[in-house]
Amino acid sequence: MSTLLLFCRDCGKQVASSQTKNGLCLDCQVRRSVADLRDEHARLWRKRERYRTQNANVEQIGRQISRVEDRMAMRIRELVPNEREAIEKLRRELEAARGQRYTIKGV
Ligand SMILES: [Zn+2]
Repeated sequence: MSTLLLFCRDCGKQVASSQTKNGLCLDCQVRRSVADLRDEHARLWRKRERYRTQNANVEQIGRQISRVEDRMAMRIRELVPNEREAIEKLRRELEAARGQRYTIKGV
């Protein structure tokens, strides 16, 4: 296994070259691959909050949210073979999605 170190061209973190693809570290690969789904998740999440304050039925939105989460999980698993690591990354992406209504930052 190569021990050559590279700087990720996105976040600048130093990572082993064996863990990079197109100059990106695994975290950034994951972040980019789920970016559209994460936005979708954030949108549905906000919608549900809004509905909830109006005492509307949020069940259907809840189902949509879990479908988006499933799709995110699938994409992450394609990039991260290690199950536990994949779950950890999904959790982080979901937290980021939910935090989007408080902080707006570029992906
Ligand atoms: Zn990176």
